Amino acid sequence: MPGLGVNAAGTRLTTLDGQPLLYPREDMTFRAVGRVGPDLRVRLAPGVGALVTAAQVVPLDGTPPAPTGGAIAVDAGSAAEPLVPAQGPAALPATALPNSAPPKTAAPSAPEVVLRLPIGAARPPFTLEQPSARRVTLAMYGQTAAPFTPPAGPLPWPLERLEVQSLAGGLITQVSAVLAAPLWGFTANPEGEDLRLTLRPPPTVDPARPLAGRVITLDPGHGGSQNGGAGSLRVPEKGLVLPIALRAAELLRAQGATVNLTRTGDVTLGLVERGLSAEAAGSDLLISIHANALPDGRDPRGIRGPEVYFTHPQAQPLAAALLSALRARLPDLGPGAGLKPGADLALTRPTTQPSVLVELAYLTDPGNLRLLHSPDGQERMAQAIAQGVADLYAAQAGARRDPARPARLPGPARARGGGPPTGLGAPAPPGPALPGELRRTARYPER
Ligand SMILES: [Zn+2]
Repeated sequence: MPGLGVNAAGTRLTTLDGQPLLYPREDMTFRAVGRVGPDLRVRLAPGVGALVTAAQVVPLDGTPPAPTGGAIAVDAGSAAEPLVPAQGPAALPATALPNSAPPKTAAPSAPEVVLRLPIGAARPPFTLEQPSARRVTLAMYGQTAAPFTPPAGPLPWPLERLEVQSLAGGLITQVSAVLAAPLWGFTANPEGEDLRLTLRPPPTVDPARPLAGRVITLDPGHGGSQNGGAGSLRVPEKGLVLPIALRAAELLRAQGATVNLTRTGDVTLGLVERGLSAEAAGSDLLISIHANALPDGRDPRGIRGPEVYFTHPQAQPLAAALLSALRARLPDLGPGAGLKPGADLALTRPTTQPSVLVELAYLTDPGNLRLLHSPDGQERMAQAIAQGVADLYAAQAGARRDPARPARLPGPARARGGGPPTGLGAPAPPGPALPGELRRTARYPER
């Protein structure tokens, strides 16, 4: 599986009733206990069963080795092994535009924090979730040769605390990193004899020029053979969102940002490739730009306005900044349904950076459609995207703490333990029935 924080939706383990549970990394091994139609049934721990498509796994004989266990090492990531590659153009899809190197004016940010869990040759299943912007929890399944223990000595900023728990009689190891600042990215991948959990601190922002040196990936939705929603339109979704993204890129570049566009023309591009493009460019943010549509047969009256989807809490401030800029510059769109946390979409799942999907407006609302078509509406949408990004960094400039003098925040009183994690972050809170777009994409993450 290429990419450190990008997963293909097609390869995943689900719970026995079909909910996504775990996106496997390369060489991860599972214990199969049976077959259910085209799927294998695997056992992660007592009471934690899962299904995986049999054709996507390779059967092995014998018992896989147990993870080594022992002391978890921690270091502030070296420049040689950053979560975000310093140079990524070689890995970019051919359709992506080459970008000039980021200007040297960006304020240097705190290094990434890397936790190394000794696993030897084992490749155990694990889930990784972000219950809040200041906590990442890794759950590793299966017996370990020795229990994992927290590192001795001081922890690098912004890592405040490391909680290591053995659950289910030692068959689940849960490692929670508690941060002194909201995270900006996280990944977990086996490398050599370690499982490396990498935590990306928030960037250091120059208050005078908040966008200087920032790398922003804008992803104009669909393209090529994929028209997007309401394909019968004179201009399909793919053609409406492209000029808005191109103009937003221009506005961001004018403020000193480097913009990576996943496509600049009418080309077909896979979903995973879009996430990989963001990662390869060393992006600070990933913003996928779409226009919404209700499925055929649903009454579109009254369903209009912007919506911003995200999966992980680290993306919430970006989502909120984009939404409020859209509402401020385009009150004529209608307020819309607003923020959509807990989304399970290919463009919101990437964890390497805050990742959101913006539905600017509804193609199925006549007033919204007029704005999407009009030069004035497109200009205001592009300005809103650039404004939202600028507002996020302006807030970041005020929020950043000096890593040399971290504030000792009191540890929140949290209940420890609990059930095994789902690997997908907090689910969307239950609410009233939502328009068809969300229901559809919850089952078919095609964006
Ligand atoms: Zn779309």
